[in-house]
Amino acid sequence: MTTHAQADTRPAFLDGTSKRLLIDGRWVAAASGKTFDTVDPSTGQVLASVAAGDREDVDRAVATARRAFEGPWSKLKPYDRQQIILKLADLVDRHFDELTLIDTLDMGAPISRTRASRRRLLGLLHFYAGMATALHGNTVDNSLPGDYVTYTLREPVGVVGAITPWNGPLVSWIWKVGPVLATGCTMVLKPAEESPLSALRMGELLLEAGLPDGVVNIVTGHGETAGAALAAHPGVDKVAFTGSFETGQKIVQASVGNLKRITLELGGKSPDIVFSDADMELAVPGAAMAAFGNSGQVCSAGTRLYVERGIYDEFVERVADYGRSLKVGHGIDPEAQIGPLVSEQQLQRVSGYLDVGRQEGARIAAGGTRLAQGVFAGGYFVQPTVFADVRDDMRIAREEIFGPVVSAVPFTDIEDVARRANDTVYGLGSGVWTRDVGKAHYLAKAIRAGSVWVNCYQAMDPAMPFGGYKGSGYGRESGVQQFDDYLNTKAVWIRVG
Ligand code: NAD
Repeated sequence: MTTHAQADTRPAFLDGTSKRLLIDGRWVAAASGKTFDTVDPSTGQVLASVAAGDREDVDRAVATARRAFEGPWSKLKPYDRQQIILKLADLVDRHFDELTLIDTLDMGAPISRTRASRRRLLGLLHFYAGMATALHGNTVDNSLPGDYVTYTLREPVGVVGAITPWNGPLVSWIWKVGPVLATGCTMVLKPAEESPLSALRMGELLLEAGLPDGVVNIVTGHGETAGAALAAHPGVDKVAFTGSFETGQKIVQASVGNLKRITLELGGKSPDIVFSDADMELAVPGAAMAAFGNSGQVCSAGTRLYVERGIYDEFVERVADYGRSLKVGHGIDPEAQIGPLVSEQQLQRVSGYLDVGRQEGARIAAGGTRLAQGVFAGGYFVQPTVFADVRDDMRIAREEIFGPVVSAVPFTDIEDVARRANDTVYGLGSGVWTRDVGKAHYLAKAIRAGSVWVNCYQAMDPAMPFGGYKGSGYGRESGVQQFDDYLNTKAVWIRVG
């Protein structure tokens, strides 16, 4: 289970220089001159110092984005915006190894995981490029007496403030910037302070792709300062936020000043339901990786594992075995399947929940401790952990842990498990493992969540919408639905004759 970190080329981007903000096509220091450090969570070592943007920088970036929105950018044809996105896709393809290495070093995800995302990331960029020339209004047949021509125009909402989390930096970046470029908006992006580096490198590639100055601005900094200033800014027309439920509430409160539009992609405590008729060769690894993948730092992680009573003990033991067999290691170790948690703070949070689970009387079937010796020294590693004998009312079954921890609960009846699956403030992902198509359809309708995965988990495609019900937020990323959030619909009435 233990591994030794292997050396990988350090990306040229991490050359020891302090990373700056991107405002109006130029790389500038924060107005305050302040910086913060980002660390490699596999070692606890500083990777880079990054500009700590604040209100003044956000003001400048928003003013720039407004000018860009009203300037030549608004005159570009959809085809021209499409070409920029395609050029960016080419650059991402060319620099893919570097970008994924930056993410691995910055947030700890194993290199095998980040490098497996090429098709997904390029697919998203190509999807946004295609959509740039496919968005349009409609002509509408009206029933007024007299002759009127009526049609709709779809117009970009304006300046978008985007705030992203740390757990999937590259995909979060593309999910935010893609619809902005496709619809003709402009933006100020505030990446998470734990893993801001690939966003900045992507900013360089955007400029290389020929993006006009000021269309995309990147202000790194802390949530309570730069993030809060962006969320409340009167010059921002829409905020696209991905992060925790608690911060989502603050984003909504901050929006009231100018009633800005908001989309929220928040957390989850997603149910993963295993029936005794499931294909166990699929369900065991599927359920394990639904919870442990990316060290459990996935918004839609399947962390409430409902297992049909008759197979409960055996299934839990098999998932526990699977968890024990996973290779935990430094992000850059090519054999590592599970990397560290992103930060010391996240380590404390997850360790706290391991204590809570024990105190609540759950049984640890696998894992349960931090790894801190030998190669793990200095890093933020936690073993993949299975809690068995969990009750629905335990905190470990109700609260988002955001670590490699799954809580296994038995069930006997499909209606009952549907009710219990829905007994949560969240509604993001869900899984069902069965060979019975009737059960699959029943739960696909009964579960109140944005995604239902049957005999798979976390399958994603640019054309499929992803987002939440209930406390997991509103708005969608991917899918054609998301563009509604970046466009206004204007009704045009022309009396003729
Ligand atoms: P977080 O809410 O702490 O931070 C997210 C972002 O918000 C960061 O950029 C942060 O700097 C910023 N922020 C913090 N306080 C702010 C404030 N007061 N005003 C404005 N911005 C502020 O979340 P996190 O810990 O970075 O990410 C983990 C959370 O994100 C989890 O709950 C996870 O489920 C969720 N998430 C959801 C999705 C999704 O698509 N639904 C995807 C990834 C992560």
